[in-house]
Amino acid sequence: MEDAILEIVAAIKAGTKTLDAEWLEKLVRRHNRKTHDAQRTVAKKRLLPFYLQIREQQPERWQSWEVDEKTETQLLRLLKMKPRRTASGVATITVITKPWPCSSDCLYCPNDIRMPKSYLHDEPACQRAEHNFFDPYLQVKSRLHVLQQMGHITDKVELIVLGGTWNDYPETYQRWYVRELFRALNDGTPYCGGPELGNDAAAEPAALDGSRNQDDAPTRAAFYQACGLTCDRDLLAQDASSMQAQVNQGEQNYNQAVQTLLQRGAWTRAAAMQTATWDEVEAQHHLNEQGAHRVVGLVIETRPDLITPERARIMRRLGCTKIQMGIQSLDDEVLRVNRRHVTGAQVAQAFAVLRAFGFKLHVHFMTNLLGMTPDSDRDDYLRLVRDARYLPDEVKLYPCALVESSHLMDAYAHDLWNPYTEDELVSLLVDDVLATPAYTRISRMIRDISATDIVAGNKKTNLRQMVEMRLASRRAEVREIRMREIATDDVTLDDLHLDCVSYRTATTQEHFLQWITNDNRIAGFCRLSLPDEQAEAATFGDAPLPTAPGTAMIREVHVYGRVASLGATSQGAAQHAGLGKALVEEACGRARLAGYQRIAVISAVGTRGYYRSLGFSDHGLYQLRIL
Ligand code: SF4
Repeated sequence: MEDAILEIVAAIKAGTKTLDAEWLEKLVRRHNRKTHDAQRTVAKKRLLPFYLQIREQQPERWQSWEVDEKTETQLLRLLKMKPRRTASGVATITVITKPWPCSSDCLYCPNDIRMPKSYLHDEPACQRAEHNFFDPYLQVKSRLHVLQQMGHITDKVELIVLGGTWNDYPETYQRWYVRELFRALNDGTPYCGGPELGNDAAAEPAALDGSRNQDDAPTRAAFYQACGLTCDRDLLAQDASSMQAQVNQGEQNYNQAVQTLLQRGAWTRAAAMQTATWDEVEAQHHLNEQGAHRVVGLVIETRPDLITPERARIMRRLGCTKIQMGIQSLDDEVLRVNRRHVTGAQVAQAFAVLRAFGFKLHVHFMTNLLGMTPDSDRDDYLRLVRDARYLPDEVKLYPCALVESSHLMDAYAHDLWNPYTEDELVSLLVDDVLATPAYTRISRMIRDISATDIVAGNKKTNLRQMVEMRLASRRAEVREIRMREIATDDVTLDDLHLDCVSYRTATTQEHFLQWITNDNRIAGFCRLSLPDEQAEAATFGDAPLPTAPGTAMIREVHVYGRVASLGATSQGAAQHAGLGKALVEEACGRARLAGYQRIAVISAVGTRGYYRSLGFSDHGLYQLRIL
């Protein structure tokens, strides 16, 4: 590993022109050809952690490599592992809420009591969360630190909050959680990470002072340790093992076990600090508008039956721009046997409410549920993408996987449920992709569950590539967004033209405006929603509407291309070529022509300044422009 690093450093210092991913691949292959010792093989993904570890823990050895600041900047960029992570235009930070009872108990849902419902402690984001006491401030700080170390630009951040059902958490916790997410991005203090984080301060009684909210990462970690919580995975596993066994054997359920854990002194002491006022949330929002890491999207996940106009209003006030909604199926009988406690009609109502509020609609849809066949799954997906009551903007489309702690184990043991074969699954997903319209993005095809946790079901992490290969062999035309994205490519502006896909939903006329190339690759898009007043009134009943009648809504503006620093120019990259502004102007023009007097935009906190520059002014939950 060291030889490889030294060769890269030498190449940088020598001014080698071709230092790119391909060059690095060749270097790794060349090193591995020379060694017959498996311990000494070089893996591209291990180079960066190795370099950082030596720099942190063996300063003398690191100094002997003579890596100056300029060389290091180039080195970190080259070793950056997953360029796609910022390819969609923003750096994504996923955080997990603390373990908490869920008001449903779905058959296939994992019951890992160390985690919020439906997550497993082996999933990467969950490991990070556990390591950081599920604290939003610590999770964001540590992730930001890692992304920066990997050379990613982090001035535009999308925050994704996962874990159980957001609306099951108390509103005070929700406010605190969001305030802390923003504070981590705003306060400019370093992470000072590592498992030993804050150990020295743990014994300080002052650390237990719950009023000390405005602290830095070591103080926060010390606070949790002083409460009696640990982030040591072995201790956590040991602590949970007997209760987890009871849950797995059906002697108690997840909610009961988690309630017991939460009522222990350590969690109740920590919870006393987990509260915030609206003023505090909004103060952090305000700071973020001009911050170094601006929030361009805030996503939370919840269940459709918990969506009400009042809850939607709270989520909007928190700064949410996108809602991930677990739907899984639209077949009422299948929902019933899978213990979802949700109906297709409730899902339709949730779509109508969230669409009226302008949220981006990201749904989870699961194939291979108990009671489904590949053919009934095909029909179910067609309903999702063709029935005007649904029509999501984004879909996580993944197969049901059997994990040991779920109730589905019983059905499997009695041969009532079995996973589809690989061919059945790939064929189904291929058909689903082909049925997906141009305005919908399939964001994922698998859950981040490790193969060792899957008792039965798909374990292939490259499932999406298998589907894409099948699609390529059929030379089929794909319209969904993700496969058309320009991703990390620079865009040639002369090749782009503006296209509009219009469609009706149960409550709106939607216009999906997209910048595309002649071969239909997408460089940016805007979602314009023109509400139907009667349908909206029927949806809301006595509850107040999110905007006044006669107001159109911009639900999303997204421009792809490698992320460029705020305010910087980047030749060829789509982000700064005025594509977003042109989309907004086109949306305003179309809304005016359709007879709307005003247009609102569901801006993220960090994009408010941008919309002000386009003539929008702040107006309650939205920014507004008179047409
Ligand atoms: S609603 Fe979601 S988190 Fe709750 S049990 Fe069902 S799948 Fe799990």
